[in-house]
Amino acid sequence: MDTRLHADALTEIEHTFGERYRPAAPGAPPAVAPTNAEEVATLAEIAGRHKLPLAPRGAGTAPGEAPRGLSVGFDLMRRVSLPEGHDVVEIEPGIPWVELEDHLRGSGKSLRVYPTSAPHSTVGGWLARDGLGVGSHQFGWLRDNVESVEIVLPGGERRTLRDEDLTLVVGAEGTTGIIVRATLLLRDAARDTPFAAVFGDAASLVRPIEDLRRLSPPTWHLGFSTPSLALSDAPAGSYILFGTLPAGSDSPDESVEEITARGGEVLTRAEAYRVWGARFFPAGAPDAPHSFATALVPLSGLSDALRRLESAASQVAVQGTVARDGRVLLLGFGGDGSGAPQDLDADGSEVVARAARESGGGEYATGLRRLEGVPEKEALRRFKKEADPDSILGATS
Ligand SMILES: Cc1cc2nc3c(=O)[nH]c(=O)nc-3n(C[C@H](O)[C@H](O)[C@H](O)COP(=O)(O)OP(=O)(O)OC[C@H]3O[C@@H](n4cnc5c(N)ncnc54)[C@H](O)[C@@H]3O)c2cc1C
Repeated sequence: MDTRLHADALTEIEHTFGERYRPAAPGAPPAVAPTNAEEVATLAEIAGRHKLPLAPRGAGTAPGEAPRGLSVGFDLMRRVSLPEGHDVVEIEPGIPWVELEDHLRGSGKSLRVYPTSAPHSTVGGWLARDGLGVGSHQFGWLRDNVESVEIVLPGGERRTLRDEDLTLVVGAEGTTGIIVRATLLLRDAARDTPFAAVFGDAASLVRPIEDLRRLSPPTWHLGFSTPSLALSDAPAGSYILFGTLPAGSDSPDESVEEITARGGEVLTRAEAYRVWGARFFPAGAPDAPHSFATALVPLSGLSDALRRLESAASQVAVQGTVARDGRVLLLGFGGDGSGAPQDLDADGSEVVARAARESGGGEYATGLRRLEGVPEKEALRRFKKEADPDSILGATS
């Protein structure tokens, strides 16, 4: 950012936010930390008047370059409230997902979905990206579990979006408004009993996934890891399939066990708990990786995609999440044979992208690119033009 051009705006922001404004330093953009939606509106008004670019920032776990401009952090906006008698939670954007789930403990409710980066990533950051995560086998995409999102537009106007208008903000990467509050749908807190099984090859892993998807009620979560990601002490070279038993079915243990035993080795309950406890790995790894690839493949192409990745197994470690709509999110990390996830280099990213493409899938896209071929694309384009004509929040890609 050319700070000289925006010196007046930054002086006004420093005056308004005091110690919560941090000037630019070598290698770090200027930053500000509002404490509530009103302050975000004040900031957006100043930025709008001076055409100062704003860059909302969560925990920084999403792939890609950080957006350019005055970095807006939400560490001081972590309030949570549970309206009595409703199955929803109202939250501010800065709270990490794991902390939010902790807040809900004791209320009889829990989150329907959260990303596997939950120990770090924030509510605002995942809303801005959308995605699939823990719980998506029953509840689908994050956007399917959002009642409303309140945003602040450049200039300071506040708007609450719901229903089909959510497409204008969820997954728009913060380019159409700054998320200051959201209302998320909750589920009844269930005792999630994990199961896990190991498989020797990709085809054996995928067959039970197809069978497990026919269970009713469905498993809340269904995910897997490839052999180069050490989720447990399973024998080297194993794919691990894990999830939670469907709550309330007649004899869930038996049916899940029967299905996973076909072609796999069912892990003991203790081992399954260990695997479930590691669902936040690689986010919870001591040296959590920052560069990784994201891709979506249809379940019908998963076996093929994993087989293609097998030839690069020493290079790419994959964590997979199976969604209600039959799509599978692949997160590809670097692997060095130790089982610990590493940063993925450009070659590794290309390997994941190609495997996804050749198996009927593709890159996990956000912004306008995710709306290719659907009418919502034009609505998003129009909203961006109206809400942010000077592209203060960056271009919508
Ligand atoms: C180990 C690991 C596991 C992951 N697991 C998953 C997973 O299971 N599912 C999945 O979908 N993704 C996953 N991701 C990707 C990433 O974690 C998610 O997209 C994530 O939730 C981003 O949150 P964040 O707080 O880190 O946001 P950031 O990376 O800081 O920001 C992401 C985007 O959100 C915007 N933004 C942030 N806050 C706001 C706000 N208040 N208003 C407007 N825009 C805002 C930023 O400008 C940026 O465009 C994973 C990443 C890692 C490293």
